[in-house]
Amino acid sequence: MSGIIGHVTYAVLAEKAAAARKLPVVPVIRRHFSSYLCGAYLGCDVQTVPAAICLDTGEGVGHGTQKLERSPLTGGPVKPWTLSLEGREITPREIHETLYGRAHLILGWPARTRELAIGLGDFLDYLADVAGDALELFGPGHRPLAYVLGWLTHVTGDGLIKSVLEGINLDLIDGKYTATNRPVQDLISFHDIGRGELGLDWRALLDDLARAPVEPVQVHYMRCREPQGRLGAHFADGWAPELTPLLEAVMTVNRAHQRARNPRLVRQLSLTPGPKGEPTCDPELSRIAGGLSYREMREAAERADFRHALWQMGELIADAMEKVIARQERLQDLPVDDGPDWETLTRRWTPPG
Ligand SMILES: [Zn+2]
Repeated sequence: MSGIIGHVTYAVLAEKAAAARKLPVVPVIRRHFSSYLCGAYLGCDVQTVPAAICLDTGEGVGHGTQKLERSPLTGGPVKPWTLSLEGREITPREIHETLYGRAHLILGWPARTRELAIGLGDFLDYLADVAGDALELFGPGHRPLAYVLGWLTHVTGDGLIKSVLEGINLDLIDGKYTATNRPVQDLISFHDIGRGELGLDWRALLDDLARAPVEPVQVHYMRCREPQGRLGAHFADGWAPELTPLLEAVMTVNRAHQRARNPRLVRQLSLTPGPKGEPTCDPELSRIAGGLSYREMREAAERADFRHALWQMGELIADAMEKVIARQERLQDLPVDDGPDWETLTRRWTPPG
């Protein structure tokens, strides 16, 4: 799935898997959950910018490099969206090509800069350096670390679903992650798993995510500044201070555009009663999924054991967290739980008799 619904689902499940292992990063994640979720999406998908401007409403529409003939809001005309920066007009394509690989580390680099990609053997060391720097250079608060842990779930999740990393067995309709099965993954994650099983309030959660503040540590881990810290000491290449203004402007657009997309996304994923009262999804999503009805999508997900693939995802991301903690002693000092509960404290402080 890999859009915001997928990445939030991965991050929520990874936190649960990490909590079951009592990993010392869990209290940090819980205290800064919206920054964790924001890192899990906007910490990586910096291509979250409008594709075009709807001329009727003036609003940004579409997503990144998508081609739009007319406005999805009004059906009216559109003009291409660009980011105005220092006298230049920067297109979504240029933003994607300049920044996507820098955020995703192990995938998504254009041929021109492929030598900057982080190898699979160095990937966890890179994350561990960033986590240490998040505490030492961007602390003493823990919010930047929560954001970095969210970003870790995205990089790992994308690596797994796009088969750059191994471990997910999924064959849903026509593969692991395809244009056709993506609406199925999104709808099942949104309704059956998100709302039904995990009890997520998607509207509130997506709103919190998009309102979480920009974290300067992102400029650091995307190497869009002078090298510094552990990361600068261990990874000498690819630092590009000239990209600071671009990334800072893009991170602000990412949040504004995600706030505009959230209600549209929730609307698109909602179900309405069909002629016989059966839950029916948006016809456009059915069309993309090869004409499957919502009932057929659920059956396909069931047959492919999609829920098991998501369980694997949570476990594998928790593995990555555990390996990063083993590499980074600053993470080993964090408290492993929330301390004694009220009942324990009451027993301790109730006078005898
Ligand atoms: Zn991504």
